[in-house]
Amino acid sequence: MKKLLLITAAVLCCHCLYPWGFYAHRQINYYAVFMLPPEMLVLYKPNSQFLSDHAVDPDKRRYAVAAEGARHYLDIDHYGTYPFDSLPRSYNKAVEKYGADTLQAYGIVPWHIQTMLRRLTTAFKEKDQVKILKLSAEIGHYIADAHVPLHVCSNHNGQFTNQQGIHAFWESRIPELLAATSWDFLMGKASYLANPLSFTWKRVLESAAAADSVLRFERDLTTQFSADQKYSFEPRNGQVLRQYATAYCLAYNQQLNNMIERRMQQSIATVASFWYTAWVNAGQPDLKQLTNKNFTEEDLREFDRLNQEWLKGKSTGKDCD
Ligand SMILES: [Zn+2]
Repeated sequence: MKKLLLITAAVLCCHCLYPWGFYAHRQINYYAVFMLPPEMLVLYKPNSQFLSDHAVDPDKRRYAVAAEGARHYLDIDHYGTYPFDSLPRSYNKAVEKYGADTLQAYGIVPWHIQTMLRRLTTAFKEKDQVKILKLSAEIGHYIADAHVPLHVCSNHNGQFTNQQGIHAFWESRIPELLAATSWDFLMGKASYLANPLSFTWKRVLESAAAADSVLRFERDLTTQFSADQKYSFEPRNGQVLRQYATAYCLAYNQQLNNMIERRMQQSIATVASFWYTAWVNAGQPDLKQLTNKNFTEEDLREFDRLNQEWLKGKSTGKDCD
């Protein structure tokens, strides 16, 4: 336990280097490691720092690759109302009905998780350590995104309802405020998913159903707080920034009845279960006997390029959600 706390402290420290939006992703991948069976822990535990650090690569890639954005969300309300039966759950059927361009325009997160699962399964079959680690880190990102209600809703930053900023409020500000001190991420064991696509859809529909409360509760709460009470100037990374005030965050979290903690916990369990499922479907290869253990110069250059593109994107004012 003491060791775990020390590791957690090390991970938390590195968070200071990153802006909001990255904290939760890093935590989710990190805690997913501890749900794995011993045969997987031999690889995942020594690499938990990598899996945590690179949980955010897909967000960084959004500044470098145009097609990346659609992999992080699904504007499901474009396709009607809950439970959105008009939208086929299989990618091929959805393409037949709406065309690939429409799907790309309104987001593809549930299907991209499947693509990543196939790639990860292949990497396990090939016993390719570098690929296994990179793909594990990245599938964790997309799975976590699918658990966020505002990633499954076209009003994703409250832009249609004058609630701009709610996206980062929900997925960054509140986790940063509460996760380390009050939330519990030590979960049970990873499960084998017999039908990963239908599991993903279940989570996506839960997100879609929750989006209404996420927006409505914030709208209601705004009427109870003056602008002075809603926002405050608080120190962060050596700067004093205007952000949602702590009292406002706590009130919103209470209204949501800890929804954000629950969604993070579910994300952790789902990430671990997808890693485990890929490994089982690949025939449970011995992870002590892998090849391609070192990142190439090209891999390292690519990590650096993602960072550079992301830093440029930030400086031109694009936001990270
Ligand atoms: Zn994302």
